[in-house]
Amino acid sequence: MQMAEREIKISLLGHKDHGKSTLIGRLLYETHSITEDRINEARAMSKTLGKEFEYAFLLDSFEEEREGGFTLDTTRAQVHHNGVIYELIDVPGHKELVKNMLTGASLAHAAILIVSAQKDERLRDETKLHLYLASLLGIKNLVVAINKIDTIDYDEEEFSRIKGEVSVILKSFGYEELSFVPVSAKKGDNVASLSGATPWYKGKTVMGFMEEFSAFDYEKELEQLPARMFVQDVYDLDDEKILVGRLETGTLAVGEEVSIEPLGIAHGIDELKIKYESVKEARVGQNVGLMLAAEGMANVKRGNVCMPSKNKARPVKSINARIFCLPGNEIKIGDDLSITCVSQETRSKISKVIKKINPIFDKEPKENADEIRGWEAAEVQIDLKDPLVFEKFSKVPPMGRFVLSKSIIVAVGVVI
Ligand code: GDP
Repeated sequence: MQMAEREIKISLLGHKDHGKSTLIGRLLYETHSITEDRINEARAMSKTLGKEFEYAFLLDSFEEEREGGFTLDTTRAQVHHNGVIYELIDVPGHKELVKNMLTGASLAHAAILIVSAQKDERLRDETKLHLYLASLLGIKNLVVAINKIDTIDYDEEEFSRIKGEVSVILKSFGYEELSFVPVSAKKGDNVASLSGATPWYKGKTVMGFMEEFSAFDYEKELEQLPARMFVQDVYDLDDEKILVGRLETGTLAVGEEVSIEPLGIAHGIDELKIKYESVKEARVGQNVGLMLAAEGMANVKRGNVCMPSKNKARPVKSINARIFCLPGNEIKIGDDLSITCVSQETRSKISKVIKKINPIFDKEPKENADEIRGWEAAEVQIDLKDPLVFEKFSKVPPMGRFVLSKSIIVAVGVVI
């Protein structure tokens, strides 16, 4: 039997034009993850456009991709290398990054931060913002690619200077001792093989770091947590209901008693189905159907959470959280906000700003504020109109990650 290939998701972070798509294209090319035909097609396309060949042309864009009810303007590409599938997710801006984070399924296991070494590009506010969001969302595995190293003549001193500037920001977001790779995505230096142009560099290639990230068992971490499943859909049978959703953490087994919150009802699982087939047990990441006796289940709906009765979280009406207000928005105490955590949703308001800071520009947090502006982060108390199930982000990540919206998303946050 052929072993299923392991898959790991890596986000590419960084300001537009710093070379994210070029790096992905180069990785696809060097690992032979795309066909010769696709390469020829991209060559022909560059010719027709009268342009130089761009590795970015090797990427297919999936602009209308929908996941979890959101349209994602991201580009994905799969790099196959030594039995591992690396799904690379190119997030063009912070809006897409936020949308991407909303759908637990597409959250990255690891990230590559790209900073262009070109003199007029370097460290930008958008780069810092991406980094802050990655730290807020607990992405621990991160490597920094200082790209376009060819534009500074592969100069070690200049590389060290950029590394120093980026390190200050990284430290302020809690990232210590990260690795930096001097890269030219365009010319292929240190992408999949070490470059002769940077003999002073003694570290790994970008691919080498990706392999290091893949050694980590991300699924196992989530599997060891108590089972949590958000109901996405409910179907009626004669005297049974099928609750369909994705198992965000843990495992569920036939016969186990589950509680459905915030309704506070409990039922034994009669049958578990994955793609129409009955199974004894469902694992983290699988889309499952739970078949339960219909009695007492009239009010079960999308957004409810199924948990083992012996290890469940209770619904709450207030949470303490760390939030980040997205650029161009503002939130005042008492503003009517919708709060969404996967498929759970209710109205809410911030009742207290404990302290706030602009992680990109400030050094000292401000206390007793009554509004949070774009680019600002804050520790707040949020009151919910109806009780929802939340847990600390550090304990059960999918249950502690949410977004706040007015007519559009205004902030992302985690429960502390
Ligand atoms: P993205 O917006 O971050 O995806 O950036 P792209 O990959 O589209 O690259 C933006 C521009 O930078 C393109 O014109 C690329 O050819 C160029 N570029 C990307 N990587 C390099 C590099 O390593 N060296 C040089 N000189 N140019 C690069």
